[in-house]
Amino acid sequence: MSLAERDLNVLWHPYTQMKTMDLPVVISKGKGAWLYDEEGNAYLDGISSWWVNSHGHAHPHIAEKVAEQVKKLEHVIFAGFTHPGAVELAERLVGKLPDNQRHIFYSDNGSTAVEVALKMAIQYWDNKGSQRNTIISFENAYHGDTFGAMSVSGRGAFIKPFESMLFDVVFIEPPSAGKEEASLEQLREVLSTKGDSIAGFIYEPLVQGAAGMMMHTVHGLEQLILECQRNEILCIADEVMTGFGRTGKFFASDHLSIRPDIVCMSKGITGGTMALGATSCSSAIYEAFLSDDKSKTLFHGHSYTGNPVACAAANASMDLFDEDATWANIKRIVERHEQFAEKLQSLDGIENIRQVGTILAFDLQTGEETSYFNQDRDRIYKFFMDKKILLRPLGNVIYILPPLCITDSELDLIYNAIEALIGELNG
Ligand SMILES: *Cc1c(COP(=O)(O)O)cnc(C)c1O
Repeated sequence: MSLAERDLNVLWHPYTQMKTMDLPVVISKGKGAWLYDEEGNAYLDGISSWWVNSHGHAHPHIAEKVAEQVKKLEHVIFAGFTHPGAVELAERLVGKLPDNQRHIFYSDNGSTAVEVALKMAIQYWDNKGSQRNTIISFENAYHGDTFGAMSVSGRGAFIKPFESMLFDVVFIEPPSAGKEEASLEQLREVLSTKGDSIAGFIYEPLVQGAAGMMMHTVHGLEQLILECQRNEILCIADEVMTGFGRTGKFFASDHLSIRPDIVCMSKGITGGTMALGATSCSSAIYEAFLSDDKSKTLFHGHSYTGNPVACAAANASMDLFDEDATWANIKRIVERHEQFAEKLQSLDGIENIRQVGTILAFDLQTGEETSYFNQDRDRIYKFFMDKKILLRPLGNVIYILPPLCITDSELDLIYNAIEALIGELNG
């Protein structure tokens, strides 16, 4: 039996209908923006392996720091104990986050970072003697796959079997270009009717990734946050996908003139090397949990909270973010995307060309509604895989979200493949 066959014998893959799944591609190593299979085929990773990879695969600096750490200390309980890497990383994150963010709570992944944020927001009010337990979220939001995170996510097909078990959330339209006032109006309506019961507002700043790289405006989002702040609603920025240089700044929140109360981080936090989540908060939130009354404690934690190896990977990734070369790369990708976006404007059969930082997306006009179940999606995925390029369309949305180390000639391979696809679809 081949390795791929042995895989299908025992494994169950994420977001995958196992009945119709093709044999998986067996990847044995990675370098830079490339993944290599056992036969030596190279695949160009145009989506940073599900939006996690920052500096390229198997980056030598991160690898070295991880190896050093794992030989020194692999793990220690994080209640009552600490270790240098956890402290250093928290200090570095606080230094990069919007300047009201003062405290870091570690967990394992993006969904848990969101769970922690929601529990912070709800218990903040409870600790203050106020029963506020409704959250405001964007339509088509995606905040993860655990129950709390599903609750604040849009009610799409993935969530259907669990819908009756999710807590109530009020959804508002995101402030996409031209919809800013309608979005603000919806928020005002919610606040005027349910204001007293609202604990917080959670949002993916500027880009709703899983929704299909849907983008909204800085000004529109600022207006919503401002309105929430006027009404003492806690604002939770889910930066799990948008953090760590992805939008051209360190955090997407850095594009805004106002600051969130809570920030969720994961994915790029370790450069895409280890699973790690982090939730930061302002002093006001942290202080609402300080009490001689033990019931006001945030009773949340995971076995691997603050794992030293994950922290070492994150610190090594932060070293790379401290280098000018990383930001020069980001700037270059942003400019190359802008040029390609201009070229796309002249092509038929596509629409809604959009970009935030290193993320470039557009829709194929397929006559069908945007959906994960879109028929063309699998065909297009295969088209790119045949060209040894990993792009994973979201329905009829094609997007590029490359490792930040990708070179100009590697970007050209992706751009050319996209042009070839459009040519074929139009032909
Ligand atoms: C991926 C993602 C999550 C969930 O992160 P996991 O590590 O997959 O649990 C949450 N929020 C956003 C915005 C994401 O893109």
